[in-house]
Amino acid sequence: MELLKEQIASQGTVISEGVLKVDSFLNHAIDPKLMEQIGKTFAEKFSGDGITKIVTLESSGIAPALMTSLNLDCELVFARKRKSLTMLDKLYTAEVYSFTKQQTSEIAISKELLSENDHVLIIDDFLANGQAAFGLIDIIKQSGASIAGIGIVIEKSFQPGREQLEEKGYRVESLARISSLSNGKVAFIEEG
Ligand code: 5GP
Repeated sequence: MELLKEQIASQGTVISEGVLKVDSFLNHAIDPKLMEQIGKTFAEKFSGDGITKIVTLESSGIAPALMTSLNLDCELVFARKRKSLTMLDKLYTAEVYSFTKQQTSEIAISKELLSENDHVLIIDDFLANGQAAFGLIDIIKQSGASIAGIGIVIEKSFQPGREQLEEKGYRVESLARISSLSNGKVAFIEEG
């Protein structure tokens, strides 16, 4: 997605060989026009797939997931990282190791929000080692729902997440694929 790549190139900061900061439009501030475009692009890729629900992870997955759900006219549910006092229902849970926080936490979705009748599209902001995606897959499988694919805003293709998800047979659609963050520069995989 050209607009996304332009914003990564102009506003992204390479923190290290493995970490990109995009706080000005995705992870802290949110750019609504960009999110609108992201939602339309994911919806084009997955339209006709019979998606009933989008599942994401709080907090940075919510904005792109919301715009996608609006365009696909389906429901949206986000997994919570912190249990809320209102989450009194029975929960599906999974352990996720966070790439950026370098700690393991439990993520949860109320059992009443996912069912075996759902056909789910997973959306997340970044794909690195695939831990977040596999945690969401774990939860979705517990509910008996099926998975149409995984939509990623920014994929770091030099890390193994995509390969591992594809090995398990999942479809991965990423809007920007980064081949390297070496020498403080963002290099993209150019796709036809
Ligand atoms: P994974 O679970 O695939 O290893 O990492 C994906 C999660 O870690 C994303 O949900 C995102 O929050 C975070 N993450 C991974 N790499 C980066 C990065 O380079 N920059 C930012 N801002 N977040 C990242």
